[in-house]
Amino acid sequence: ATPTAIMVGIGIGATKGILIKNASALEKARQIKAMVFDKTGTITVGSPEVTDLKLITGTEKENQVLSFLYSVESRSDHPIAPAITSYLKETKEIQNYQVSDFQNMAGHGLKATIKGDKILIGNIQFMKSQGIEISQELYKVSEKWQEKAQTVIWMAINKTPAAIVAVSDRIKTSSKKAVNILQNLGIKQYLLTGDNEQTAKAVAQETGIMQYRANVLPADKAQFIKTLQKQYNVVAMVGDGINDSEALALADVSMAMGKGSDIAMDVADLTIMTSDLNKIPEAITLSHKTVRTIK
Ligand code: ADP
Ligand code: MG
Repeated sequence: ATPTAIMVGIGIGATKGILIKNASALEKARQIKAMVFDKTGTITVGSPEVTDLKLITGTEKENQVLSFLYSVESRSDHPIAPAITSYLKETKEIQNYQVSDFQNMAGHGLKATIKGDKILIGNIQFMKSQGIEISQELYKVSEKWQEKAQTVIWMAINKTPAAIVAVSDRIKTSSKKAVNILQNLGIKQYLLTGDNEQTAKAVAQETGIMQYRANVLPADKAQFIKTLQKQYNVVAMVGDGINDSEALALADVSMAMGKGSDIAMDVADLTIMTSDLNKIPEAITLSHKTVRTIK
């Protein structure tokens, strides 16, 4: 496309809430053959809510366990964190403790120390990798929650399970329609998430995305893009930048959802200023129009 056509395209994009940072991505968007979606914050609203909570230690310690959970999650910028902290603040008597050795284990959870107590918070794989033993009974509770498409968060104190929390994130109202339009454009779509199998499957089914991968670590998200690139010429990634900035950077066309992290907007070719997924097919249409005007 001519520089003028590109300028016009970028201008039209801006009025539609599609911020185009990389002009060549605007030209390439019409050639997208495969598109990978992050789940949390992209296909789902990204503001999960606590739906269940079970304490494992005796009730006399309840406030301390929950205060530890609150204090560590307060330090995280994962979308799960505000779900847990706001829930605890509204429903329980909590205290904010000073946290040391805070570590964000991308795609797994969090590690921290409070007053010498070692705290682990995250998914079951993370617990297993840290040598936490989980009873059959707890396992069953968590399975039951996951079958309802809830994400289960485990908390261990000094290597002993102390609480499990279920959070649930609504699917965006725009997801199903956008997936349908993209499918009619002949684009193969994939859902990619660090979340569990059942939740991934439920979200894929509900939105009409044919393929999904669950329990994917951040580095493996990028690897998945590479694998797709061997099969499809132009691969797009849509994400919110939390644990997927590497995949965004690798994709031929990367799109960030405006409500996501600043990193996402830094690396992405296109930023969708609203949370509306229908802006994605709109961006593709804009790409077609931009390239057509000049011939
Ligand atoms: P997604 O692909 O859905 O964005 P992530 O890779 O960001 O998922 O996270 C994968 C999993 O790691 C989450 O589903 C959760 O179980 C766990 N996790 C990550 N951060 C946190 C946190 N702050 N608190 C609890 N669990 C977390
Ligand atoms: Mg994410």
